[in-house]
This record gives sequence, structure tokens and C-alpha cells, in this order.
Amino acid sequence: MQNEFPARARRRFGVVVVLITALLVSTSAAFVRGQAKLASPDTSTSLSATGDVLKDVSRIRHLDILQPVKSGSKSHDEIEQSVISDLDESTTPEEFDATSKTLIKLGMIPKGFHLREYVIKLLREQVAGYYEPKTKIFYLASWLPISEQKSVMAHELTHALQDQHFNLRRFERWPKGDSDAELAAHALMEGEATAVMLQYSAEKDGWNLDLAKVPSLTDRMLEQDSGDDSAKYPVLSGAPMVLKENLQFPYVYGVGFVQGILKSRSWRQLDDCYAHLPQSTKQIMHPDRYLAHDDPVKIQITDLSPVLGKGWKRADEDVNGEFGYMVLLTQFINKQSARAAAAGWSGDRYALYENPATGDSVLAQYTTWDTAKDAREFFDAYAERSEARYNAKRSAKSQPNDCVIETSEGLVYIGLRDKDVIVIEGAGNQQQVASLSEILWKSKKTSPAAPSK
Ligand SMILES: [Zn+2]
Repeated sequence: MQNEFPARARRRFGVVVVLITALLVSTSAAFVRGQAKLASPDTSTSLSATGDVLKDVSRIRHLDILQPVKSGSKSHDEIEQSVISDLDESTTPEEFDATSKTLIKLGMIPKGFHLREYVIKLLREQVAGYYEPKTKIFYLASWLPISEQKSVMAHELTHALQDQHFNLRRFERWPKGDSDAELAAHALMEGEATAVMLQYSAEKDGWNLDLAKVPSLTDRMLEQDSGDDSAKYPVLSGAPMVLKENLQFPYVYGVGFVQGILKSRSWRQLDDCYAHLPQSTKQIMHPDRYLAHDDPVKIQITDLSPVLGKGWKRADEDVNGEFGYMVLLTQFINKQSARAAAAGWSGDRYALYENPATGDSVLAQYTTWDTAKDAREFFDAYAERSEARYNAKRSAKSQPNDCVIETSEGLVYIGLRDKDVIVIEGAGNQQQVASLSEILWKSKKTSPAAPSK
């Protein structure tokens, strides 16, 4: 299992979360939830049917079974132990710290928030099952209601087949600072496993579900997630939005991506996605952009430490992506405007600098957009978000393409040039904004190579 929330608090796979199972169960109308509650959960009967479920999954997904799959069950405590050992292996305390600092700077988590501890509690509550590529074994949560066990098995067994055919271990060590592409790859795996799980459950209910023909399941899941889950999932419902959104993304948006591929191709041709991975959350959210090879522009952000001076160091660096920007803006502005402003993303990179002696921090972002209109839309939305974030108004010195906001945490500067927008957040004074922005504009952009045929 790989459960982690590294840079940008994302990334874990092989896991299915309770929330998604619940959404699935309510999506599949014939399920009678109440029934399961009468019987006390026992996973042994379901697990003894592993071979049969694997055969169904293999038929639905059009992937041959190359070897049998072993199974087991785990309690809440055992799942927590696996989560902790995965986190220890994959994410250093410094990396958690760096992610926390960026999220605090962006106003997404409160100061003093214990990110690692919260992630552990959240996964303890939410993991309904997982597949471990290292041992090739899948586990079911021992407390899962019987009515949900086989659906979760279908999900995990899809991961087993993915692993047999496409080797999931190659995704375990993703290069640091490339979170948007990493989240996209995980959305492919989780979306596929969720799609197979849905089809499997529908079949068991005697319902012939054609994923290529039904309306977007992403929209349906987003609509259903209305949030009266606080009693059932107290940790999830108390989680900062960024954690909840990142936990759900691979399943909720991934299934929409798979539907998009199935509409123009087939299950068998979904195999190609493993040879040509989706490159960005934009491609997951808009499968037509994946099919059109609309790959992201890579940004190499200039090192700002020489201008910031002695005592400053880079604490974090990564890519937000369309999804990251949608969440970041939604924290402070209307969700629909946030979604519209994040669309048209073409590439970005940010770096967080800190001065440990003074406790000051500066966040620099370089973003590039499909069109000048998209860039303008993001510029306006980020200005609105910043006014709300810091409860401050833009200064009279602002120009149509240069927005300055004086805040209690330093100056926020947003600059627009053609298709690009830069942001400097937390600068000491106007002079510093001028010198930082001058070199930030010199960041290098590399356009994607033309698609190979
Ligand atoms: Zn999964």
C-alpha cells in the first residue's frame, strides 16, 4: 500500500476509501444499505469468493488473470499501522513540514495544524481496503458491512490485475516536486478500479450499466457529496477542504476520465493510458485534453534566494495544476468562479521561501495559460481570492495588469503579461516586489514536445 500526502497533500493508491464506497452504494439504486447492518461483519465468506470476483473483474476489464491473488482482512488498528509504516517510508518529516508550510501560507490549513497526524486519523477512518503491490496481497477492512465487501474486493482486484499487466510498483517512487502529474497517474489507476467496481456492483444488482453512455459519474458523485456525513465520518467531515478534496480526487475525477476514454475507445484501449500516462490533473478533468495530447508546459522557476538575501532558504517547490488551483481558489471564492478560473491552465510552478530566524515567508508562483483571456481570468480570480484570504483591499497603486494588496503578512503582488501570471505573496516592501518580480519573470518555460505517433 502506498498512503501518503506528500508535497501538496496528495498521492496514495491501491486504497479505496469508505466515502467512495458509500457514494457508490447510493449510486447503485438497488442496494439496500440497511440490510447489512443486521449482520455483524465477517469478511471470511466474501474473501472465500476472491477467485470468482477476480474472474468477473477480469471479464469486465478485459484483462487476463496472470496469477491468483491472495487476500486478507485488517482491523482499524492494523490499517493504521500500515498507514504509518508507509508514511515513514515515503515521506520524511521535513517533507510533511514543507507541505504544511505551503498550505498554511495559502490559508488552506490553520497554523499549528498537525498534518501527518491528521492524515493518519483520516486514512484510519476512510480506508476500506487496499492492495499491496510489494506483496501482491489485497486486504479488506474487517469492519466493512457485508453489503459493501464484494464491491471493495472488485476495486482491489482491479488493482491486482493492473499490477500484473502494468506493474504498479513503478509508481511508488515518484520524483518529488511533480505532484500534479503524480496525482493524474493515481487518478488513472483509481478511476479505473472505481469504474470496474461500479460496473461489477451494477451487474450484481441485475442492472446493465454502460459507462460510456451514462452521464458523468464525476458530476453525480460531486452532487451527492452534500456533507451530512459528520456522524458517520467525523474525521473526514472535520478535515480541511484541501485534504478532503485531495483524498477524493483520484476516485471522483478518475472515474470521469475513464468514462471519457471509454466513450471514444474501449476497455482494451485503456491499456494505452499506462504507456502514455495522463500528464496533469487537467487531462484527468478534461479527457479530451488527454486524447488531444495537450501536455503541460514545464516551468523552471528562477531561484529567488539571492534577491531575498541572507537567512532565506527554499522550503518547498511543486506544481499546483488545474485541480490544485481550483481547490486553492475555492477556499476563498465562489466554487463556480474558481472552477472557471482554473480551467485553461497550461503549466505552473511555485516555490516557498522562508527565513527561519524571523519566521517570515514568501511564496512565488509562475503560471501559464492556454490563452490571454484565461490568464486574465486567473489574474482576476487570484486577486479576489487574495482580498478574501487576507481581508484586505487592493491598493490604489494597482494597475490593470499589476495588482498590489497590502496585508498583515506582507505584500501580495499579482502580475499579468500576455498568457502568463506571476504571484508573489508575503514580500516585505514595494522595492522587494520590484526586484523579485523582475527575476521571477525570467523563469524558463519548456513547451511539450509534439506528440509521437
Ligand atoms: Zn484503489
